[in-house]
Amino acid sequence: MERTLIILKPDAVQRGLIGPIIARFERKGLQIVALKLTRLDSAVARQHYAMHEGKPFYDGLIQFISSGPVVVMVLQGNHVIETVRKMMGATSGFNAEPGTIRGDFGLSSSFNLIHGSDSPATARAEIARFFAPEELLDFPAASWPWVYAPGERP
Ligand code: UDP
Ligand code: MG
Repeated sequence: MERTLIILKPDAVQRGLIGPIIARFERKGLQIVALKLTRLDSAVARQHYAMHEGKPFYDGLIQFISSGPVVVMVLQGNHVIETVRKMMGATSGFNAEPGTIRGDFGLSSSFNLIHGSDSPATARAEIARFFAPEELLDFPAASWPWVYAPGERP
């Protein structure tokens, strides 16, 4: 099954939105296979956002993402990468559609609550950045028989 790396950013943690955001993923039928509260030092933050180096928002982004505790987790499910990106909404909370996480909970294009991997290759690299292999739990979710039809089941 596909996996993706999620970060609930410092604004989500400070605003008490860990529960409401995780609840959306659980209700969707996605499975949590790794989860921790941690803090990104600036070296890890720079590595995670290396593709944005040189852009005008880069320094502020590094400062923001390392400014307080974050929740990092790995979600698993069929088509989970694209599903989560849709659930997140557009980058700016102002542009994000209502019904999405960013559209429902935020107004900023910087403090936008959540990161989600954007491709299978990125997901693999990002998961390895934050979790050792033994921290990823492989278990059959009790909900699977009702979330997936027989032909879709893992
Ligand atoms: N960001 C920002 N200003 C911008 C664009 C992006 O502060 O004009 C931040 C924002 O926190 C965003 C992150 O940089 O989530 C990474 O940008 P990207 O374009 O990859 O957006 P995402 O993939 O998170 O939607
Ligand atoms: Mg991105």
